[in-house]
Amino acid sequence: NATTEVLTAWDATEGTARASELFTTTYGGAPDGVFSAPGRVNIIGEHTDYNGGLALPIALPHRTYVAVARREDRTIRLVSSAAGGDVVEVDLDAVGPAGTPSEVSGWASYVAGVAWALEQEGLARDLPGLDVAVVSCVPTGSGLSSSAALECAVAVAWDEVADLGLAGSVEEPSDAGRSRLVSACVRAENEIAGAPTGGMDQAASLRARAGHALLLDCRDGAVEHVPLDLAAAGLELLVVDTRAEHSHAGGEYGQRRATCEAAASRLGVPDLRAVAEATMAGETTLEEILARLADDEQRARVRHVVTEIERVRRLVRRLRDHPGTQLRGEALDQVGEALDASHDSLRDDYEVSARELDLVVDVARAHGAHGARMTGGGFGGSAIALVEADRADEVTAAVARAFDEAGLRAPGFLPAVAAGPAG
Ligand code: ADP
Ligand code: MG
Repeated sequence: NATTEVLTAWDATEGTARASELFTTTYGGAPDGVFSAPGRVNIIGEHTDYNGGLALPIALPHRTYVAVARREDRTIRLVSSAAGGDVVEVDLDAVGPAGTPSEVSGWASYVAGVAWALEQEGLARDLPGLDVAVVSCVPTGSGLSSSAALECAVAVAWDEVADLGLAGSVEEPSDAGRSRLVSACVRAENEIAGAPTGGMDQAASLRARAGHALLLDCRDGAVEHVPLDLAAAGLELLVVDTRAEHSHAGGEYGQRRATCEAAASRLGVPDLRAVAEATMAGETTLEEILARLADDEQRARVRHVVTEIERVRRLVRRLRDHPGTQLRGEALDQVGEALDASHDSLRDDYEVSARELDLVVDVARAHGAHGARMTGGGFGGSAIALVEADRADEVTAAVARAFDEAGLRAPGFLPAVAAGPAG
């Protein structure tokens, strides 16, 4: 019997207690406050962000908690239960972009980078130092964005401690202010941590709403909150962390980006989103577009991006027209088909899937999932399956068994609901 490890999210009480305890045992005394931010899972819209496209993430109930106390100098001291418990010290005046002599290394760069970026963006001046204790129930390196959860928790912490007035209150979050925090967190990850990611992760973590998926327009950062209550329709979104290494920063990601940029420039458009808009408006066809491209590789990559943006639109329309209990029958079938088509496109045209991801998808489908796909950048990481709530255990057990039989590391299972943003 294969073991099934269910990674349940901590509630706010538990997360806060754990962070406070780590703070006190590390630094003595009590923190000034505890802040948290969620990981995310993308329902559909993959590899669209850097093409000016659309994505549809939800914030996970799994969050990173940071207990912090303000310091009177420009030093940050950091400890994380996920990083061995050693205290790392960083001088905020010595933080600089990756590759420069003042480079900060390791996980501290995600924290120090946020302070650097807030100052670079003109959102803060001379931020105070902080003592920080980090705990998290977001799996790291699983494509569920533990990196954004860490950045965004730290960003709202500094917002409060240094009185930046950007995040707004829990009752009334400021979306405009949060968009600016998103930009700072993206710069921290790109320029200080040195990971080339688009802005979807940070937008989901800072701007999502509980009970809603976040339709993100990656061209201008506009968002729409799409009601999502799968439980009302008797459904469950199962997230499977395959525990296969994903390497975003690796060359493959950069190559996909470069191919898309080359295709857009050949077509004379600012980004591939423009192509998707034109096909959706019936101004041209995908076939016409593909015929103008350089080679089969460009054609396959463009076909993925354009059809993926179309799928996001189609899926969102179904969710909007069939909220809550109405997501059954034909509408549900169409949502499932969009998820399946997204996976097949990522596997065959974009070539970013992995054996483990394909296995989850195949097994979930064989056990009655309405749809299943890899999620995140690919080459490992996580997959999602939209299943009947009363068959979730069956799918979970079947996936665990299949991994066991294939001699793969046991995967982790996360029951996902659309949770609230950083606060
Ligand atoms: P993902 O965002 O998909 O989890 P990334 O590779 O983007 O994967 O980010 C993982 C990195 O983020 C870790 O290697 C670590 O540097 C940092 N990180 C995330 N969560 C924590 C944490 N709780 N404590 C320390 N570092 C963390
Ligand atoms: Mg990440």
